[in-house]
Amino acid sequence: MEYAENILGTIGNTPLVKINKLAEEIDALVLAKYETFNPGNSVKDRMAVKMIEDAEAAGLLKPGGTIIEGTSGNTGMGLALVAIVKGYKMVCVMADKQSKEKVDILRAVGSEVIVCPTDVEPDDPRSYYSTSKRLAEETPNSWYVNQYDNLSNRKAHYETTGPEIWKQTDGKITHFVVGVGTGGTISGVGKYLKEQNPNIKVWGIDTYGSVFKKYHETGEFDEKEIYPYVTEGIGEDILPKNVDFDIIDGFTKVTDKDAAIYTQRLAKEEGMFLGNSAGAAMKGLLQLKEHFKKDDVVVVLFHDHGSRYVGKMFNDDWMREKGYIE
Ligand code: PMP
Repeated sequence: MEYAENILGTIGNTPLVKINKLAEEIDALVLAKYETFNPGNSVKDRMAVKMIEDAEAAGLLKPGGTIIEGTSGNTGMGLALVAIVKGYKMVCVMADKQSKEKVDILRAVGSEVIVCPTDVEPDDPRSYYSTSKRLAEETPNSWYVNQYDNLSNRKAHYETTGPEIWKQTDGKITHFVVGVGTGGTISGVGKYLKEQNPNIKVWGIDTYGSVFKKYHETGEFDEKEIYPYVTEGIGEDILPKNVDFDIIDGFTKVTDKDAAIYTQRLAKEEGMFLGNSAGAAMKGLLQLKEHFKKDDVVVVLFHDHGSRYVGKMFNDDWMREKGYIE
C-alpha cells in the first residue's frame, strides 16, 4: 500500500508545467513550479512545517501550545494544517485588505482569526505586526512564528523547493523568477540553485508601493516608495531578514492592474487558476524578456490558488470598479 501517514506527508514534490500561449513572445522554455498542489494550496505549507519543527526542536513550541502569526492567509493555512496534525492551537492575525475568502478558509480549518487595519504604520499598535507580537506576549505557552525574520522559512526552500527545481530541470535551469514577500522562497531557492550553478540568474518580482527594488539598487530604505497597493502576497514596507539581497540579481515591479489582468489571463489562456501573485510573476517575467535567450530554461514559481481571489481578480465587477477593465 502507498499512503501518507497524515496530510503533512503530501507537502512538496509539486509538478513543473510548461507555459504555452502566455510565453509565446519568449524564445526560452518557460516552466511554472506549480505550488498549488500542496495540501494547503500554496507554497507556504513547506515553510510552515519547517518553522514549527525547528521551533519544537529548539524548545520554543511545547505540547498543547498556541501558535500565533501575522499572516496574509497562505502561511496561516499551512500553519493551521500542521497545528491540527500536531495538536496545537492556531491564531492568525490579518490585515483587512486581504480577501474575505482567506479569512473564511482559515476559520474553516479551525484557526482563530483577528483582522487589523491595513493602512497604518507597522509600529502602530493597531497594525498586524504589533497586534501579533502583543498577543504572543500576553498568551501563556505561545510561540510567535514571525515568518519575516524566522530563517527556517528560507531554509525550507533551500532544502525542498530548490532541490526539486534543480532535479526536475536536469540542472538545465538558467533563470529563476519569483514574487517576493517575506523573501523565503527567492532566498532559499536562489541560494540552492546558485550553489549548483553560479551562472543561474535570480529575479524578484516586486510591486509598486514596496521598498525592495529601490533598496536592492541603491541600498537606501526609501519611505517614499511606500504606499497602499492592491496586489496580494508580494512587496513589503519593511526589510524582512529572510530576504537575502546578495543572491538576487534584480527586481522588476508590476502594477496592480497588470497583476490582476495576468491573473485572469493565466486562468483563461493556460487553464492555470492561480492567485494574484502568479499574475504579477507572469507579467514580471514578460517584462524581463530581453534577458532570456533561445536555449534558456526559465522557471517561474506560482505561489497559491485562484479560489482565494474569486471575489476580486476573478470578479469582473470588482475589476471594473478598480478601473482594470472597461
Ligand atoms: N505570493 C503569495 C500569494 C504569498 O502568500 C506570498 C507570501 N507572502 C508570496 C507570494 C511571497 O513569498 P515569500 O514570502 O516566500 O517571499
